[in-house]
Amino acid sequence: MTSCFSQPNLLPFEQAQQIIADNLELSLSSENIAIEKALGRVLAENVISPVNVPPHNNSAMDGYAFNAESLKENKTLTLVGRAMAGTPFQGKVEIGQCVRIMTGAKLPEGCDSVEMQENTEVKDNQSNATDGTQVSFLQAVRAGQHVRYTGEDIRLDDCILASGKTLTSVDIGTLASVGVAKVAVVKPLTVALIATGDELKQPGEALTEGDIYESNRYFLSSMLEKLNVKVIDFGVIPDDKALITQAFSDANRLADVVISSGGVSVGDADYTKQVLNEQGDIGFWKIAMKPGKPFAFGKFSQSYFFGLPGNPVSALVTFYQLVVPALYQLMAAEVPKRIQLQAKTTTDLRKAPGRMDFQRAVWAMSDSGDLEVTSTGAQGSGILTSIAKANCFILLPQEQGRVSAGESVTIELFDSLLLPK
Ligand code: AMP
Ligand code: MG
Repeated sequence: MTSCFSQPNLLPFEQAQQIIADNLELSLSSENIAIEKALGRVLAENVISPVNVPPHNNSAMDGYAFNAESLKENKTLTLVGRAMAGTPFQGKVEIGQCVRIMTGAKLPEGCDSVEMQENTEVKDNQSNATDGTQVSFLQAVRAGQHVRYTGEDIRLDDCILASGKTLTSVDIGTLASVGVAKVAVVKPLTVALIATGDELKQPGEALTEGDIYESNRYFLSSMLEKLNVKVIDFGVIPDDKALITQAFSDANRLADVVISSGGVSVGDADYTKQVLNEQGDIGFWKIAMKPGKPFAFGKFSQSYFFGLPGNPVSALVTFYQLVVPALYQLMAAEVPKRIQLQAKTTTDLRKAPGRMDFQRAVWAMSDSGDLEVTSTGAQGSGILTSIAKANCFILLPQEQGRVSAGESVTIELFDSLLLPK
C-alpha cells in the first residue's frame, strides 16, 4: 500500500517537520485541577484575573506615610497612628500628620507618599513611638515615593495566562497571587512506547552472543514523563508477526500516539515495516538529517504513529527534534522555542554536504567572554555518550561542508528535557 505520507527522495529536515505539523489534529478534553497539581500541565483556557494585584495602594517600605504637601514648609510631622500589613489605619491623615507604616500595609486615606524609617528621626525608639510623637524628616521627599499602586502588577480582567501555556512554577505563583485556586488544563496525552528487535536485552539480564542492552525505551519514557504525558510501555516486542501485529493494534486502541523504535530502516529484516504497512497509512522516510535518516510517520485508525530509528542517538535526536514539537502540538500547547546562538567552534568539524547535522557539543564562555563550542568527539549514531557529555547541538545546514576551528556555527542549547530535572 502506498501511503499518502510516502516521500521517495531524501526529505529535508524542515520539510519533514512541516509535513508532521500539517497532519496533526487532536482535541483532548480538559479537566479542572488544583493549581498545586498544575506544574507542567497545559492551560486549556485563558485565565482572567478576578482582582487587581496589589488590591490597594500600599507601602513599599517600613517607615512613615503622609501627604507630600505636609513637608512643603515643615520638616516635622505629628504621629497619629499605625498601619500594618493586614491591619490598616482607620481614619484620615490630615496635613501635618503622619502614620507609622509597614511594608505591604494599605496606604491610609489622605496619604500619597512614604518615607523610609532610615531617613527619619524620632526622639525615642521608632517602633514604640506613641501618638503625638514628632517625627523629623531628614531628606526632601518626592510626592508618590515608595508607594505600590493598585493593579500595578496585574489589573482586574487582564488575561494573565493564555490557553496553550505550559505552566511553570512562576505561573502557579501568579495564579495564586490573583486568588485562582483551580485551572482548566488539557487532559494528558497517552503515548504507547514500543521497542523492536530480537537482539535487545533488558538491564539486569545476561547478554548472550549478538545481544545488546536496550536503551531507547529508558530515555524515551523518562523524557515523556517530563512532558507530562501518560506512557503505556509495551516493552520489547520479539520478531514474531502475530506479536508485532497485536502490539501495534493494542497500542492504536489505547493511545493517542504510538512511538516505536527500530525496524523502520531500509535494510530491516523484521516484520515491523510489514505490519505497519498493513495496519496504518505510514510513510517510511529518508530524512536528510544526521543522525536520524530513517524515520516513519503516519496514522493508524485512532492514533498517530512515529517510527524512530533504532540507533540510540538517532532515536533520541529524531524524538527531540521531530516528535517533541508534535506532542506539544497535539496537547494544544505552545511549542517552546529552543535557544539558538552563534558560537566559535574550538575544533574542526567533519561534515559532508547532503544532510543537516545535529552534532553534540559543549558550549562555554571563553576567558575573553566569547561563546565557544567544543564537539564531544566521535559522532556515531550508536554513541549515546556523545549526548550524555553534551549541553547543546551544533546545527550544520544540509549543504554545509566541513568547518574549520575558529569559524562561527549555530548552536542550539539543550532544553530541560535533556538537562537534569
Ligand atoms: P534497526 O533500526 O532496528 O535496524 O536498529 C538499528 C540499530 O539500533 C541496531 O544496532 C539495533 O540493535 C539498535 N537498536 C534498536 N532498537 C534499540 C533499542 N531499543 N535500544 C538500543 N539499541 C537499539
Ligand atoms: Mg531492528
